[in-house]
Amino acid sequence: MTLAAYTPRHVPEALSGLFDIALDLRWTWHHGSDELWRAIDQEVWDATGNAWLVLNSVSGECLESLAQDPAFMALYSRQLESHREFTEAPTWYSDTHPDELGHGIAFFCMEYGLAESLPLYSGGLGVLAGDFLKASSDLGVPVTAVGLLYQQGYFRQALNAQGEQQEFYPYNDPTMLPVSPLTDSDGQWIRILLPFPGRELRLRAWRARVGRCQLLLLDSNDPRNEPGDRGITSELYGGTPEKRLQQEIVLGIGGWRLLSQLGLAPDICHINEGHSAFAFLERAVSWALTHDTDFDTARVANRASNLFTTHTSVEAGFDQFPNDLIRLYLEPWMAESHVSMKQLMKLGSSSGGHSQRVGDEGTFNMAYLGLNLCGRLNGVSAIHSEVTQAVLQPYFPRWPKSEIPAEYVTNGVHTPSWDSREADTVWTRACGKDRWRRPMESSCPMECISDEELWGMRQKQRSHLVSYLRSKLQSQHCEHVPGGNPPAMCGLLLDSETLTLGFARRFTEYKRPDLLLTDTDRLAALINDRDRPLQIVLAGKAHPRDDYGKVLIRRWREFATRPDVEGKVVFIEDYDLAVAAHLVQGVDVWLNNPRHPWEACGTSGMKVLVNGGLNLSQYDGWWAEAWTPELGWAIRPGATVEELSQNNEHDFSDANELYDLLEGSVIPEFYDVDEEARPKAWINRIRGSMNRLTARYSANRMVREYTENFYLPMVSTGSERSADEARAMVEEYRQLECDWPKLRFAGMEVEEGREVDTIKVNAFLNGVSEERIRVELVAEESDYGPREVIEMQRIHSLEGAVHGFAYQACVSKRPAGHFTPRIRVQDDRLNLPLENASILWLK
Ligand SMILES: *Cc1c(COP(=O)(O)O)cnc(C)c1O
Repeated sequence: MTLAAYTPRHVPEALSGLFDIALDLRWTWHHGSDELWRAIDQEVWDATGNAWLVLNSVSGECLESLAQDPAFMALYSRQLESHREFTEAPTWYSDTHPDELGHGIAFFCMEYGLAESLPLYSGGLGVLAGDFLKASSDLGVPVTAVGLLYQQGYFRQALNAQGEQQEFYPYNDPTMLPVSPLTDSDGQWIRILLPFPGRELRLRAWRARVGRCQLLLLDSNDPRNEPGDRGITSELYGGTPEKRLQQEIVLGIGGWRLLSQLGLAPDICHINEGHSAFAFLERAVSWALTHDTDFDTARVANRASNLFTTHTSVEAGFDQFPNDLIRLYLEPWMAESHVSMKQLMKLGSSSGGHSQRVGDEGTFNMAYLGLNLCGRLNGVSAIHSEVTQAVLQPYFPRWPKSEIPAEYVTNGVHTPSWDSREADTVWTRACGKDRWRRPMESSCPMECISDEELWGMRQKQRSHLVSYLRSKLQSQHCEHVPGGNPPAMCGLLLDSETLTLGFARRFTEYKRPDLLLTDTDRLAALINDRDRPLQIVLAGKAHPRDDYGKVLIRRWREFATRPDVEGKVVFIEDYDLAVAAHLVQGVDVWLNNPRHPWEACGTSGMKVLVNGGLNLSQYDGWWAEAWTPELGWAIRPGATVEELSQNNEHDFSDANELYDLLEGSVIPEFYDVDEEARPKAWINRIRGSMNRLTARYSANRMVREYTENFYLPMVSTGSERSADEARAMVEEYRQLECDWPKLRFAGMEVEEGREVDTIKVNAFLNGVSEERIRVELVAEESDYGPREVIEMQRIHSLEGAVHGFAYQACVSKRPAGHFTPRIRVQDDRLNLPLENASILWLK
């Protein structure tokens, strides 16, 4: 592969601007240029949705003749102009926070779902990262994303006649992907070198442009690398733990080096999931070198501007590597850095920040590495932040769960990537063009959209979906299903007036794709109801090693070929962004019924909002925040995290609730039409859901929340930690760590008063500065009131003690035993207890 493919060989001078637009993934959501690509090569555009491929497949002669065609040239000039306008227009960020983010944000993720023609994703995490980047571009937030360019990406799926999943790994020819080699100012292709055991790994660098943002990609398929190394970036989520570790080193360490080599010096490093935590490490190490400090100083100085977002709900979801593997791969890297193996191992164990604790020996945990090096931590929904608190409890010994500093930003979706043409028309009428580029704060005057128009939109979308499903079934060779009835298998029994339920996601146990199959006869009765039928469209992949997930696919396949429901339940193979987009635009109801509380957020249901689809989902993740009875349906509404169990005890009752909702509310309401043949109550739900939820669950809101609640304050905290300041902090906290075990409590007394009680306690600080600690009283929630944490005042020093003080606080009336005193660190410069979890309770 050479750079020659990227010079405008066959493109006439008059059309040279096509390169720029073809390499800007803005065409994945903007749709303004669809016509242009279709005019160049309709077949390639319709089949692949890849503008870069269109440009590369078309012949020079064809382009020459287009350059002579005034109609085409007019189209082209309009697109060029609109692209220029878009690039130069002021944005929310440039208007509201100009330059406040300094050199911007580096965003790391293992996968990116930006377009089906750039298959670098497997599911939710990647789609979220893609939507995040697109919304950052809309808002002008200066994000540079870093990822891996996989030669095969995630597997592609087909089902055989028995409903067994077949897995294919087509090769992604990088010259056919909408990315270009990243070159330096001399036009040389940028390469990154990484020290590997006994060798050097060469990485090639690529760039995908995402509107105003860019995604930088690394791959190891350099012919000069050893054969095994060339395959490091071949597959996403495949291979052995060793390969996975290699990938994470390439992503984190290689990725940060790439940013440095480009001269970018991001002020914030944001990792999306623990996979990329090595980026924090490399950041600290390179900072230590340039600022001539030791690693601990660099760690303290940097962490304030490191953000760690977790999407995991169970401990087992964190990547862990055998220590031996870490030693093998990181030793060569450490030879160039100021980190010792002992320091490194500590960072990957739960004892990392807090030496009172002996860590789990044996494995190196990427989430703990992230925690030990970040300044803020967030989950992706309110419930998920509580779940994260529980999962991370071992990291914060003796801290109450509710005080574990897991914040949250609920995920959102990039609305313009998911709306249909019909929905776009309706929204444009209600709230104008470009509405998604600015804060989508206020609700839109959807009331001005008549029932007729809204319902017309829904009818058209459903009818498009039915056509799409038929064409997909055709390409799945529907007429050849053995024993099948060809018209049914090919979707001819699908009906564009029938209530359509969609279910598409990863097929894995906790997502319970089979919940609806709990009582197959009850389900078949709904599907076959003569007056009020139901049809179902499904899609989803099971991870190649998830045998149970594959069984679930087969169960649906078996059900779908039952003679009585055949043709009314269809499974679309190879779930990807394009399939997802068609489904969320056309279905009436989106179903999501994961087992509590494993779904960190769940985003697919948000994609139907803009299109007037309704949600029927487990009360979990985002839906627990969004749901109200007028807007949609929830299974086990009001379930709290405490009563959520991770086993299957609710499966049966949840299934029953799901059937009851369908039978008692969803289906009757859909078919309850007025004299104009429109379901009034249903349309009101649509209007409410579009109006009240679309903006709130958009990536637009999400990116603004990250910016205003995290990035901006983190830039300023980060800038306060100079090398000198960080050095002094390290010094101080080393001493504190030695002195902390000498802290003692004694003699708690309660004086009962009429209104309030007074509690006193003596604390012997034995060298720990009284300015550096806080003495508190804690009462857990009980019949006497909510949880309370009350700061105690230092009232006088204790006679006869070397360094002791009496503390006191007035408290509301509760039984005396309800209050427990404790000592913790107090330091406005730190995010506590994340950065220091020292704590002493009065036993
Ligand atoms: C949105 C999306 C997902 C994530 O959906 P969940 O609700 O989080 O399961 C996965 N895959 C594709 C292709 C998507 O578009």
